[in-house]
Amino acid sequence: MVSECMNPDCRQKLHYLRSGRVVRVVHCGGEQTIVEHFWLCGACLQRFDFRFAGQDHVSLMRRRLPAPVEAHALTLTLVA
Ligand SMILES: [Zn+2]
Repeated sequence: MVSECMNPDCRQKLHYLRSGRVVRVVHCGGEQTIVEHFWLCGACLQRFDFRFAGQDHVSLMRRRLPAPVEAHALTLTLVA
């Protein structure tokens, strides 16, 4: 499970999911399934969002508009 903010300039520890956003990425390939979680804290979510590029690459991109403050989750399934 995720333990800190994905932003390398922040790295805030995740104690309670009160704000921000969590995504779960499921890699399904062959006989093995790998699940990864990524979290952006509330402050970073105002400036960044997740960017899904390619089959299994998750990075950050700058937002043009602020995000909602409340916590919410998104599940993305990637098939390798
Ligand atoms: Zn952060």
